[in-house]
Amino acid sequence: MAPSVAEAMMDCLRQRLANPASSHRLGQQARRRLESARQAIAGAVNARLDLHPPDRVLLTSGATEANHLALRGMAALRPGAIVVSSIEHPSVRGCADQLAESGREVRVVRCDSRGVIDLGHLEELLAPPVAVVSLMLANNETGVVQPIGQAARLCRATSAPLHCDAVQGIGKLDVDFRQLDVDAMTFNAHKLHGPVGIGALVLRAGVQVAPLMRGGGQQLGTRPGTESVALAVGFAAALELWQQTPADHRRRLAVLRDELEACLATDADAVVVGGAAARVPHTLNVAFPGINRQELLLALDVAGIACSTGSACASGSSEPSPVLLAMGLAEPIVEGAIRLSLGLDTTEEEVRQAARQIVSVVARLRR
Ligand code: PLP
Repeated sequence: MAPSVAEAMMDCLRQRLANPASSHRLGQQARRRLESARQAIAGAVNARLDLHPPDRVLLTSGATEANHLALRGMAALRPGAIVVSSIEHPSVRGCADQLAESGREVRVVRCDSRGVIDLGHLEELLAPPVAVVSLMLANNETGVVQPIGQAARLCRATSAPLHCDAVQGIGKLDVDFRQLDVDAMTFNAHKLHGPVGIGALVLRAGVQVAPLMRGGGQQLGTRPGTESVALAVGFAAALELWQQTPADHRRRLAVLRDELEACLATDADAVVVGGAAARVPHTLNVAFPGINRQELLLALDVAGIACSTGSACASGSSEPSPVLLAMGLAEPIVEGAIRLSLGLDTTEEEVRQAARQIVSVVARLRR
């Protein structure tokens, strides 16, 4: 978490705000703080709370819940198939599996070897009836940016509602909810140096989702449960941090990533996964053919480098990455691939140090 985010949250916690759903003055004071944070979260992605009817920002426990609320919430109100891509995050794939278990047809869009979803295949799979389509903005393992604008046009042509998991793109790309022209969009705070435990589902004006849970009337009954003002304030502060970071500082991340990749390719024969497509600047996926990724992860951990071998939600599993398999990559690439991420405050020296360590660990494992 960024220090400015922690400060904003501490300041909020010190005020000992009351329950924002309470009618008394202290409750109303908390409500005003919460709604101003919600407004800032909406504003950061150009969701319009001022329209009649307005776009809506539902605060959730994170992106997993927001993805489920979107898919299951829309599927409950519309008949038809669920369309997802083969490279979605486990929270979307898992939700589609749950819907399949309850008898829904699930259609899976292929991706190409660059890790980009196949729009021609999407078009075929949009044959009505379709309840909801869910496609990610950028992949969490490769960083590859997906053609959501074009997908949205295809979905509009068949009146299929489109949900976008934008977790990996917010902050790193200029994401404009209105311009993206999707019906629903998920993002969370902890990918932005914000707090763990809060996410948002943004719904375009007029789009309805059925609640996953019944409870109190918070968030118009669509996502009942007491809202955390401090988490919402932290979420807004994290978005503000990225908004206030000059574009050239964000571009610096891509320069550092390219430097790290080039060094690993030259000195450790690494293959860059997804390098042929446009990517978000902070993620890199590199494969070391002939090396077992789990062994590499452990050896790098000992050397002080934190990496992952797929989605963090799937770490600990020795299964190969479904994303890399969907890209049709050769077995030695899939077996030897790790993912590294850079943060806003990652320095050039840290990247050089990481490169040296990785090259040396890879050389040792190859011996
Ligand atoms: N979607 C994507 C693309 C992600 O990268 C993640 C987190 O890793 C999630 C969803 C799940 O987010 P959360 O941990 O907030 O539930």
